[in-house]
Amino acid sequence: MQRRTFLKTALGAAAFARSQAQTEPLWGGPVLDTHLHLRRDADSCFTHIQGCGVTNAVLLTPAADEDRARVEMEKRPGHFVRSVATDPSKPDAGDILRTAIRAGAVSIGEMKYHVALDSAEMRRVYDIAAETQVPVMMHIQNFPHFPGELPYNTGYDHFDKVLSAYPKTKFIGHGDLFWANISADVPTDRGYPSGPVKPGGLTDRWLSDFPNLYADMSANSGNNALSRDLDFSREFVIRHQDKLIFGSDCSCLDGHGAGVSQNNNPEAKRLEGKCVARATLELSKQISSPAVFRKIAWENGNRVFRLQW
Ligand SMILES: [Zn+2]
Ligand SMILES: [Zn+2]
Repeated sequence: MQRRTFLKTALGAAAFARSQAQTEPLWGGPVLDTHLHLRRDADSCFTHIQGCGVTNAVLLTPAADEDRARVEMEKRPGHFVRSVATDPSKPDAGDILRTAIRAGAVSIGEMKYHVALDSAEMRRVYDIAAETQVPVMMHIQNFPHFPGELPYNTGYDHFDKVLSAYPKTKFIGHGDLFWANISADVPTDRGYPSGPVKPGGLTDRWLSDFPNLYADMSANSGNNALSRDLDFSREFVIRHQDKLIFGSDCSCLDGHGAGVSQNNNPEAKRLEGKCVARATLELSKQISSPAVFRKIAWENGNRVFRLQW
């Protein structure tokens, strides 16, 4: 049997095509996923990045799971770094964050708790982020994904006060309401508005006005906002080419869309069966020049998180 035929039989045609494709970088160069939640099983983060052509990732790690993140990182050297997150209303939250950053965490996130953006609890987090020079990434959402879900990081309409009060803190916005505000009209009855963007949205303005605000493109929220009006998105990406940071928030199993890609979020059905990383990288390619795509997929994240591989 010829080698080619043998391989085809052994691996199956689809797997063969996939193994061939992986000999070249899928996205024309390295890709950093800054929003990959640490998973239960060892090596499953690696399986995901391999499947979708991502080369490196920030593992979003709750403080209690730090040891597990370390195991994942050591198993595949040169691919992962980790963040730290803890409930900011815990009295020892400050110590927890500082200790983890001293031990190697490169960012604070994902901060997804039921507090206000300008609360004393979050202000303490912003001070620590400034002092340790790591970015802080917040999930900003007020419309529930399921009955009874409480809002996270409230008070976005006056977040500009926080941005100007903490010039040394690098803020990374993420989540439904952050991205709904790409448009000047934000409906209150849904998390993911569709249709044309009305210019002048808070997020668009603040990305221009504040050098310390960045945008995490992950999840359905980022993908939906940048898909809804491609003409607007092409300009938006040019305006904020140094501020947009690729992340997936994907929970699919294999980097090809198997399993559930958007956990516990029926509203995000449009990405069902898809790998969010792939979908958002495709979209980014479609709306940006090759040079800007490199910034989004690799350069901006590495600069803001101060990474060296
Ligand atoms: Zn989130
Ligand atoms: Zn995926």
